[in-house]
Amino acid sequence: MPRAPKQPKTYAVDPSDVAASDAVSADTAPPDALSRALKSVFGYDSFRPLQREIMEASLEGRDAVAVLPTGAGKSLCYQLPALVRDGLTVVASPLIALMKDQVDQMQAAGVAATFINSTLDLDEFRARCAALDRGEIRILYVAPERLVTPEFLARLARWKVDALAVDEAHCISEWGHDFRPEYRQIRAVRRAFPHAPVLALTATATPGVREDIAAQLELRDPAVFVASFDRPNLAYRVVAKDDARAQTVAFVKSRGDESGIVYCQSRKAAESMAEALERAGVPARAYHAGLAQEVRARNQDAFLRDEVRVVAATIAFGMGINKPNVRFVVHADLPKNIEGYYQETGRAGRDGIASECLLLYSRGDVAKHLHFLAEISDERARAVAKAQLDQIVSFAEIATCRRAALLGYFGEDYFGEARGDGGCGGCDNCLTPRESEVVTTDAQKLMSCVLRIEQKSGFRVGLQHLAEVLSGADTEKIRRWFHNELSTYGAGKDRPRASWVSLGRQLLQEGYLEVADDGFAVVRVSERGVDALRGRSEIRVTKAIAPAAAERTRERAPSRGGGVVAELSPADAPLFDRLRALRKRLADARGVPPYVVFSDVTLRALAAERPQTKDGFLAIVGIGEKKYADFGADFAAEIGAHG
Ligand code: ADP
Ligand code: MG
Repeated sequence: MPRAPKQPKTYAVDPSDVAASDAVSADTAPPDALSRALKSVFGYDSFRPLQREIMEASLEGRDAVAVLPTGAGKSLCYQLPALVRDGLTVVASPLIALMKDQVDQMQAAGVAATFINSTLDLDEFRARCAALDRGEIRILYVAPERLVTPEFLARLARWKVDALAVDEAHCISEWGHDFRPEYRQIRAVRRAFPHAPVLALTATATPGVREDIAAQLELRDPAVFVASFDRPNLAYRVVAKDDARAQTVAFVKSRGDESGIVYCQSRKAAESMAEALERAGVPARAYHAGLAQEVRARNQDAFLRDEVRVVAATIAFGMGINKPNVRFVVHADLPKNIEGYYQETGRAGRDGIASECLLLYSRGDVAKHLHFLAEISDERARAVAKAQLDQIVSFAEIATCRRAALLGYFGEDYFGEARGDGGCGGCDNCLTPRESEVVTTDAQKLMSCVLRIEQKSGFRVGLQHLAEVLSGADTEKIRRWFHNELSTYGAGKDRPRASWVSLGRQLLQEGYLEVADDGFAVVRVSERGVDALRGRSEIRVTKAIAPAAAERTRERAPSRGGGVVAELSPADAPLFDRLRALRKRLADARGVPPYVVFSDVTLRALAAERPQTKDGFLAIVGIGEKKYADFGADFAAEIGAHG
């Protein structure tokens, strides 16, 4: 009988250690089997944080759970050990498209990898099983529903299974955002091959999901590795939305040839966004669940193959998008919650190159969400949704570091001891600290209105109601509660009603007001506010975000995490473009996306280093023996011709 998992061991990584472990290279560490294969097969000089630790635990035969953010390099954690092991590594992976993508990438690096899923015809299936029977395959990707059938388990028994990797392991948990019941059955493989260590990988950080993974897979005393969720190469920016399409078009046009995703709230908005981009001369496609399956597949494929620059999509787009060179993610509408925002922005910059996340924010979007919320009949579900909305609104409105806020949501203390030392260097608030303004008189009005209502009615109200009282509105509640008899009723007619709400939020931010109950629903005057009223002292708040032309801003400098890929120098840009065109031709000839040939990181290094010899090529990140053999001559010729 398999034992229940013990309390997992955690090796949390302090973000400040990341740079140090990143620096462990083949030059300083003794070249063991893992390091050698890292260089000769994948063309990488060093491990990313936790990769080596995860691989070593697994090679020692230990079960492990790896929780690393998107782009951290989880695949390598099972791909590289597979080359060192004698037998077969079986990988359970949820998406058919992803399996093919990964196998293409492995094969391009010269690794004997294959997949088995429902897309294969019988002949192809038999051919692959025969190769497996002959022991020719190191890594086998299988869809879970196939993996767990008795027939397949019987086949596996012939193939000397040495390890099992479960990618996107959060799919096993009902608490995760992408539950797949068939993942639950994977434990049958664990039971059938008790000697093979199981490695579960996910980018979902919640502890509940993590525990569920260990329990459902019947892991034995697993080593648990949790990396920082900081994405050092992503810059975060919020601008006030006035015209989402015009702002998005301006932003996208300022980004040269780069590709990105624009998330929209509705199918209609996604369609019209794609049209607006096309009209402005930016090749773009829409993607949402309302499109026919073939259209969706075609649009996604065009994006992966760098044939269109932008996909304007609903949140239906993204799961299983492995495209490493997504350079920006725009949210044209406010996402429902921080988790969604983090997942969606996380699709930018998988390759480590600086990339930008832009959120267009308006109070109008908040009102729309509130409207949807009101329709949720289940009270608990409504409360949860409201709390989540409050969190994303507060993220959009804060004047302090957005990275720290985002990571704080996942329980990470970004600044730690170093609080306030110049910021993260990669969000709008840290790059250009927001200006402040003096709002003494209006703040006094608003705060006394809060106090008067409390005195008169004995209860507290929310910012919306306060704004209505101050601007002298005639609402049912005002009449019912006789709030039109207050001295502050109509005292703020000179200011638009919505701006009273934002002033209220600013005062919350600065601590003059406090949230009294759940979320932002009702407020009270804080001690600081009472003091300011009594002492008639000046009240200063950070200005609300202004609508900005959303063109490209300064790219971020690497933050404390390090590991951000160097910028392409303008002098190398023409050669980069040439090499990119060559990459596209080679990829098309092989029927694979360009990044299967070389990543943008490799292309940048080629444009900067301009190698001509074999050693020169092998020194470039991402070029191993096989890729040199396949593409070296073509790229050397192109570099030579460029002169
Ligand atoms: P995840 O599954 O964690 O989102 P991937 O496995 O898709 O991440 O890897 C993201 C990118 O990082 C890929 O392009 C991969 O080739 C690259 N990568 C992974 N490990 C390394 C490394 N040690 N050095 C350089 N690049 C790496
Ligand atoms: Mg992955």
